[in-house]
Amino acid sequence: MSPRAVAALRAVMYDGRTVVTQSRPEPAPSAGEVVVRPVRVGVTPADLQVAELCLKFRGVLGHEFVGVVERASDGAGAPWVGKRVVGSPVVSCGGCERCRAGLSAHCADRRVMGLHDRDGCWAERFSIPAANLVEVPKSLGDDAALLSGVAGMALHAARATRIEGKTYVSIIGDNALALIAVQVFAKLNASVRVLGFEPARFSICDRWRLKHRHADEVGRRQDQDVVFECSGTTRGVELATRLVRPRGRVLVASLSPGVPRQALPDTAPLLDAVAISAGEVEVAGVGRGSVRDGLDALARGQIDTSGLVTRRGVMFDPAGAFELAREPGCVRLSVEEPRR
Ligand SMILES: [Zn+2]
Repeated sequence: MSPRAVAALRAVMYDGRTVVTQSRPEPAPSAGEVVVRPVRVGVTPADLQVAELCLKFRGVLGHEFVGVVERASDGAGAPWVGKRVVGSPVVSCGGCERCRAGLSAHCADRRVMGLHDRDGCWAERFSIPAANLVEVPKSLGDDAALLSGVAGMALHAARATRIEGKTYVSIIGDNALALIAVQVFAKLNASVRVLGFEPARFSICDRWRLKHRHADEVGRRQDQDVVFECSGTTRGVELATRLVRPRGRVLVASLSPGVPRQALPDTAPLLDAVAISAGEVEVAGVGRGSVRDGLDALARGQIDTSGLVTRRGVMFDPAGAFELAREPGCVRLSVEEPRR
């Protein structure tokens, strides 16, 4: 072997056709970045979309992790090495008008690890700006910490909504976001229910004594004050406009990295413009919230994530992982290195 050979590591890549484990060079962190070794990587519906719908993204997959910081570049700030961390996958430029106005989540040049224009975390090691990281308290387990980004998004949705008196809220979907959001809205004294499509996923609400129904079994009575669409599907968005009352509010969340409609008729959400206009319905988008807020709520025990990691896969067996992630009962798949 050449003495100049570049050290390599394993990473799960999408190459435009398929998802494979490949050898990649060691990450070279820029100033202010750190190198993290993931102990858990979450495989989410967005990962499945990238691979199954041949989306534009090419590179290392993965945007949800719990890991340990191995190295830090100059300018990374706090002593990060050895810390157990989670982090936001959104990397903003810091220099554009929006970033300077404090809206870095809406950076004009934003990149999203594993989804848009930046390698993700599904690798033996990856780099990430230290500013994106939050240290995980010792009291919080890896599975719970893995869902801190989703928890942050559910909190973000709830904060964007006025809950006064007995507010009727329907949450559409049976993914991790829907199942965390139902808990968050229930704590705000709302009358809340989950309307899911896959009973094996949403029956977990029984444990929290929260109402759930199959989406096909509910009347379209336009009597809900707030409908939070979490499924990211045409079906879910159409249902939302049938459920919301006149002058009610529809919240729309989609973690899709951006799907060309012609490529994806079934999941490109369509809002019913006539129903929105006639009902004077307010429609609001819900982007990613704060990972730190999510982590804090989890650490304080305000959100129960036990049982949401329903499947475990092997870190560098992407074919096996995707098979598990597609199972009807899979809410969240965590891929991990086998225990040595
Ligand atoms: Zn920017």
